[in-house]
Amino acid sequence: MDFRFTDEQEFFRRQVRDAVDRLIRPHVAELDEGDEFPRKLWNEVAALGYFGLRHPAAYGGLDADTVMSMIFFKEFARGSCGFFMAVTVQMLMGTYFLGRFGSDELQQKLLVPAIKGEKIAAICFTESQSGSDLAGTRTTAVREGDDWVLHGTKEWITNGPVCDFATVLATTDPQAGLKGLSFFLVEADRPGFLRGRKIGKLGARASATGEVVLDHVRVPADHLLGAPGKGVGYLGDILNQVRVMTGLAACSLADEAMKDAREYAKRREAFGKPIAEYQLIREKFARFWVQYQAARFFLYRVAWMIDQQQECLREAMGAKWFATEMCLEAVDQATRIYAGNGFSSEYPPQRFFRDARFLLSGGGTHEVLLDFLGRKFLSE
Ligand SMILES: Cc1cc2nc3c(=O)[nH]c(=O)nc-3n(C[C@H](O)[C@H](O)[C@H](O)COP(=O)(O)OP(=O)(O)OC[C@H]3O[C@@H](n4cnc5c(N)ncnc54)[C@H](O)[C@@H]3O)c2cc1C
Repeated sequence: MDFRFTDEQEFFRRQVRDAVDRLIRPHVAELDEGDEFPRKLWNEVAALGYFGLRHPAAYGGLDADTVMSMIFFKEFARGSCGFFMAVTVQMLMGTYFLGRFGSDELQQKLLVPAIKGEKIAAICFTESQSGSDLAGTRTTAVREGDDWVLHGTKEWITNGPVCDFATVLATTDPQAGLKGLSFFLVEADRPGFLRGRKIGKLGARASATGEVVLDHVRVPADHLLGAPGKGVGYLGDILNQVRVMTGLAACSLADEAMKDAREYAKRREAFGKPIAEYQLIREKFARFWVQYQAARFFLYRVAWMIDQQQECLREAMGAKWFATEMCLEAVDQATRIYAGNGFSSEYPPQRFFRDARFLLSGGGTHEVLLDFLGRKFLSE
């Protein structure tokens, strides 16, 4: 057993960390306040080449394994949460199906520019009546000659207001429930691809989120990604990565919040001494540190299991749940350490507190995860 990063991994980690410190962290508060998709920053980060981390070198990617990618995501999450969301959609869910099933022609046309950041990707499965329960998907894809015609409305789409193409989950067989769901690639310049309302968000604001309306959009047959009816199975293949990535984002967010609170606790005095000298304040840091270590090791182990092609659905769900709960507790404790100032928009804790809520839905809500984990344990 060896719990250290290799020299190559450590070198890469430092490289990403430096880039985040230089390009993103100085602007985090203004990115949050602006609540816009930060195009200039997008271009600067794209130029570093990380968008292709999970894609093959033949298309301009870096062919990185899961552990290396997760090292990236953990460091990248030290910047702006909203921007992190926009970038991770581009790197994982928004281009995964295209990379796995797209024809060479489609990959040249869309994946290569997406890796360069010239085209923006989105992933569309959520609808107003179906989030966790994808069997409720109403967007249809109907075969007409050599084409597919897609019709329906998607909600909560990260990058939706700015994307150049989207991977869309639609039913090709409405009677078949989950077994009728398939993924399609849809370019945003096709007639009938419309942007609906933009959604204002509590946190993770430096990203554009909104509705995508597909009004009888016609796409050629090769835009069906994979086999019809297999969409949910394919989704499962990428969701474990999304869970580990979300869990590591939770670790970074918690770490940032508690390190900031630590400096405040050393500075702030009450009853004649810094509040850091009170045992009940110190306990908050102690609890955080232990849980943070446990979450981080759990998550990297799942990343390693993915690379070893081991079955790890249960571990990925458990690690994501644990890390996110740890983060929610940490950001809450950070606002308590700041007390009145923790409620003020002039201090950072409120931003950590708001941002942390975004972790709850990615890769499965906590109720859905716990329900699965409980049933699994009971079945043994
Ligand atoms: C910031 C943000 C960005 C997002 N980006 C995207 C995106 O890019 N693309 C996209 O397609 N979607 C996106 N989503 C949507 C996200 O995937 C959904 O919010 C998520 O799947 C949950 O669905 P829902 O919100 O409809 O909640 P619901 O599924 O309606 O859940 C409501 C409540 O019921 C509980 N519940 C549901 N089923 C069960 C069960 N079986 N057992 C116990 N409790 C249950 C849930 O845990 C929750 O508490 C985004 C969401 C957010 C907040």
